Amino acid sequence: MQKISDRVLVIAPHPDDEVLGCGGFMHRLAGEGASVQVVVMSGGKPGLYADEAVQNVRQEARSAHGFLGAGETVFLDFFAPELDLYSVSELAGSIAKLIREFKPLRMFIPHRGDIHHDHRAVYNAALVAARPVQGCSVKEIYAYETLSETAWAPPFADDAFIPTCFVDISEHIEQKIEALRCFRSQLREYPSSRSVEAVRALALFRGVTVGLFWFSVNWRIQSFELAYKNGGIHHAQTT
Ligand SMILES: [Zn+2]
Repeated sequence: MQKISDRVLVIAPHPDDEVLGCGGFMHRLAGEGASVQVVVMSGGKPGLYADEAVQNVRQEARSAHGFLGAGETVFLDFFAPELDLYSVSELAGSIAKLIREFKPLRMFIPHRGDIHHDHRAVYNAALVAARPVQGCSVKEIYAYETLSETAWAPPFADDAFIPTCFVDISEHIEQKIEALRCFRSQLREYPSSRSVEAVRALALFRGVTVGLFWFSVNWRIQSFELAYKNGGIHHAQTT
């Protein structure tokens, strides 16, 4: 299996999106020598969320990320659930600063069609922040699939999540589940879509669509190097 040793920036609108979306891949990348950094864009808006609850879920996130092998997590303080009320430049500026400091090769972001407008705002801002100008280090951008957000997108083609990159997490699905268990405040009992059973079912389903076992999927948005090598950016690929 090809080794992947590079820098990866994972951007989450809220704590747990990143583990639901690409926790298995994070663990795989870290195990292969990649340096994985997570940035959580938001804290809860005062009045809607108690500070104690915000601090609690941040601690849960630190535990989950540490378990997956990620480095120290960055928490920004934009208010959730109102990220769409900030200007794109304001959100993008914060992300661009992290990109300049961390110099990631790959970036993982939420899907643009997710039902939560915070996710859409982060998607837009991340693409602006990672424009291939001024020596930006980002060469590949992937959108991850977040259970309880992506599946509830409006039923229009523009919002559909169509995976184009399949990542083998057969050796990492249990670690993804364990990391999710760190989020005691967020995980729910089956048949909630935010349950351990649902996470397993989705990974299994995505795997069998390519005839393999446990998979997580991404939607490749831009891949500057691979676009050049493969002659296109929409080729389905298993990794
Ligand atoms: Zn979210």
